[in-house]
Amino acid sequence: MNVTPFWLAGRAATGDEELTVTHPYDGRVVGTVAVPTPQQVEEAIAKAHAVRRDAAALPVHVRAEALMHVSRRLEERAEEIAKLITAENGKPLMWARVEVKRAVSVFRFAAEETRRWNPTMQRLDTDQGGEGRLVYVSRVPKGPVLGISPFNFPLNLTAHKVAPAIAVGAPIVVKPAPATPLSALVLGEILAETDLPEGMFSVLPVPNERASDLVEDERLPIVSFTGSVPVGWSINERVPRKHVTLELGGNGAAVVLPDSDLDWAAQRIGLFSNYQAGQSCIAVQRVYVDRSVYEEFLPKLAEVVGGLVTGDPSDEKVQVGPLVSEDAARRVESWVDEAVAAGAKVVTGGAREGATYAPTVLSDVPADARVLREEVFGPVLAVQPVDGVDEAFALVNDSAFGLQAGVFTRSLDVAFRAQRELEVGGVIIGDVPSYRADQMPYGGVKDSGVGREGLRSAMDDYTEEKIMVLTGL
Ligand code: NAD
Repeated sequence: MNVTPFWLAGRAATGDEELTVTHPYDGRVVGTVAVPTPQQVEEAIAKAHAVRRDAAALPVHVRAEALMHVSRRLEERAEEIAKLITAENGKPLMWARVEVKRAVSVFRFAAEETRRWNPTMQRLDTDQGGEGRLVYVSRVPKGPVLGISPFNFPLNLTAHKVAPAIAVGAPIVVKPAPATPLSALVLGEILAETDLPEGMFSVLPVPNERASDLVEDERLPIVSFTGSVPVGWSINERVPRKHVTLELGGNGAAVVLPDSDLDWAAQRIGLFSNYQAGQSCIAVQRVYVDRSVYEEFLPKLAEVVGGLVTGDPSDEKVQVGPLVSEDAARRVESWVDEAVAAGAKVVTGGAREGATYAPTVLSDVPADARVLREEVFGPVLAVQPVDGVDEAFALVNDSAFGLQAGVFTRSLDVAFRAQRELEVGGVIIGDVPSYRADQMPYGGVKDSGVGREGLRSAMDDYTEEKIMVLTGL
């Protein structure tokens, strides 16, 4: 099998080690990837640092054209890349196609945002001493970005780091997850087709043990990290002077109220507790259903979840594939077994075969069970009846995490109350917490992280305001 090169300051390179990528469904080898040496990592950082001023001065039309080129090429190569994502990650082809489509949009949105990203002018004679003065405010990159992405959306979450960096004129060094580097390396290949200057981007599949070479280097003052809670917060502690954005885990909750469409709620919750085999930070993990409709809702939900098609993720019809590894599936199995031993009831599912865990609904789950308190990151949903909105919202907030929450209601009063009271980064009314549009602000509170992604938000995040006062006008 050919060795896939990594991307060092815009050029393909190989090191003196390799890493093997396997298919989570059957364990077959799907790629061999070159790993950069410590000297090559140093070279990538040095080149990103060296090009930072030229990068910031790149004309907007050059940035926008590079971003549009990436968008078009991802679209042209969509099917090939979707198959690669399925092979490295195990996600069903239908979801891998959605991921590529989203990345196509992310680069297009970035091209649009950079074109309308203008400096502002403000008059200062609104107070004494400001007569004849204006302030000009532009946003300048804080410096080269280190983007660290997780295994679960290996292309689109890398796109969410790269696209805003190019849009603001900041060089970026990407470190993909070791289990899923292949799609990020294709993105590197496509970026290399653009006219971006040398040093503007690198994609370095560095092993976790050597990630500190990147994290701790002062020439990469921005760290945009998406991944697990312990790794994310430990990075924040290690580099307190850097600007760190953390997009971390969650245990997404949905609330179902009696004024909602129960069939729609069951469809959406059933599907989005299981898409990506539950390996999404905003998958639905907890459902609080108003007691007046609980008995009606539960069989609808069980029917949707029980009807999901599991199996080989390359099969067009499969909706739920394997987890990223058999170890991950065993962990999910042990958490469900533990909850059942403590009194939880299995409504549907509850079985493992290799790396695949059956879509599962649990009821009567004790409040301290891990399937409720921690991030399951598997296809497991805990359902519970509640007495009204007060109890439902209190339970949603009774969590260390705070990424997004979904509230199925038709009441505008309840919607605004949810937006005020739920301790999360985003409230989705009439749908699951798993809804994410790539152009909107996205991120969490509490253990789930700090800072926001989404094109415009990430562009703000990578930059800071710089002023110039004009006097004597
Ligand atoms: P992870 O934390 O194990 O790895 C994430 C990235 O960090 C990988 O690239 C990994 O190689 C790297 N990494 C690991 N140890 C490191 C270290 N010591 N220093 C620097 N980098 C290191 O997470 P994962 O298992 O790949 O992804 C799953 C997690 O990501 C889940 O918790 C999920 O909720 C979270 N996630 C969050 C979002 C979000 O936007 N909030 C989106 C997707 C996934």
